[in-house]
Amino acid sequence: MGASARQRATVRHDHWIGGKPSEPARGSYLPTLRPATREPGDEVAAGGPDDVDRAVVAARAAYRAWAALPAADRSSALHRVADAIAAHTGELTALERACTGKTDAQLRLETEMSAAYFRYYAGALHAHHGRTIDQGAGALTYTRLEPYGVVAVITPWNLPLNQACRALAPALAAGNAVVVKPSELTSASTVCLARIASEAGLPDGLLNVVTGTGREVGTPLALHPEVRRVAFTGSVPTGRRLATVAADRLIPLTLELGGKSPLVVFADADLERAAAAAVNAVAANAGQVCSATKRLLVESSVHDPFVREVAARLEGLEPARDFGPINTEAQYAEVLDHFDRAREAGCRPLTGGGAYEDGAPAGGLYIRPTLYAHVPRDLPLAREEIFGPVLATMPFTDEAHALALADDTAYGLVASIWSGDTARGLRLAERIQAGQVTVNGCPLTIETPFGGYKQSGYGREKGLEALHEYAQVKTVSLALGSS
Ligand code: ADP
Repeated sequence: MGASARQRATVRHDHWIGGKPSEPARGSYLPTLRPATREPGDEVAAGGPDDVDRAVVAARAAYRAWAALPAADRSSALHRVADAIAAHTGELTALERACTGKTDAQLRLETEMSAAYFRYYAGALHAHHGRTIDQGAGALTYTRLEPYGVVAVITPWNLPLNQACRALAPALAAGNAVVVKPSELTSASTVCLARIASEAGLPDGLLNVVTGTGREVGTPLALHPEVRRVAFTGSVPTGRRLATVAADRLIPLTLELGGKSPLVVFADADLERAAAAAVNAVAANAGQVCSATKRLLVESSVHDPFVREVAARLEGLEPARDFGPINTEAQYAEVLDHFDRAREAGCRPLTGGGAYEDGAPAGGLYIRPTLYAHVPRDLPLAREEIFGPVLATMPFTDEAHALALADDTAYGLVASIWSGDTARGLRLAERIQAGQVTVNGCPLTIETPFGGYKQSGYGREKGLEALHEYAQVKTVSLALGSS
């Protein structure tokens, strides 16, 4: 497991550097929690700047030979990583389950998608190349798509393996070597991934994992002079801090930050499917997804019956079967604090609005699926991203009002529109300020570029766009002379 059992029963996960496990320079480890039960989980290496430096040196040494390989060879290696993820699904999901408490269906989905990222970019890299430019008979001019070298990937705790693979697969495909800093709360699956990728033949040093806190590992990684690009997924404050570092160092950065995404339901929509989508926004990963559409905007004529139906369905959700716990104690406290603030502002939930008081869910970080209806637009419930199973609804009167409410947010990640009038759906899709807009539940997949407008960040992940993010364009031009 890239981990060693020490005196006590606790399993410890070391860093993964240069193709092998590596103990932290300071010899210390961080505890983790099992959010489904609040029991202590595995420990992860508490990294520091020395560990970061070793990982970056290993990556620096590995990337040139990797980038020089024919595309077909890099592609085969990435296909083998995908196969290895599929073959080790049991191990990866057990590690992920322990530190997140995710449901089996969610774990399956995320692990399958993790392998699929590698397959997609293993295929796409065959068509990742430059072009020739016609400068007339006296010149041969062409572009090359070259890797940056060492790329840092910093990931959060909500979709640990999946978000690592989302960045790693295109970064490696484009010829880079990577140092990943997963969340210190959910690092084990990423360390395991590095080990199984090594066993599957990925050359040493291409995929390194240094675990630890943002301050001790994340910042030194972004500051390291040999790191030439950073991909970050996480909160707005940390994104802003990293943007300052990147600006100072003049290196490019991809920021995938938060969202407060609208789900817009017109009276003529397929209300059955729209209600299922609203429930899914809460149930999927217990609402701890930056792209979750939990701001429910509903046409006034159907608002009240529609939200009552959604609330009834939320009441039918079973903890541990249909949704998991909140991942961290801090986040759990934050969601409960939102409920307190809503109460102080005079808001009563139609359903939920608290934790479980008895039975097995009370032992873990489970929060009741919650719906607040008719939320005033200036309340935190309507404006702040809440990483938990919480819907806030608002009625709208017409298309222009729907658009105004949809855009009434600092974020711009996703919007989901439901209408029987597809032209209206597309009109709104083209106007809403968000990086991806779906109409009538069309899924967003690996092929569809993903990223934010406004405070949701910049740069794109997924799709061919991500592959281009991890390459820089060089123009080569040769004077042919006259014959
Ligand atoms: P969340 O609130 O979702 O945990 P964070 O932005 O705090 O979001 O964390 C996302 C990732 O960023 C984690 O891996 C975390 O350790 C890392 N991180 C936190 N603070 C910093 C920092 N100052 N510099 C670099 N990385 C950081």
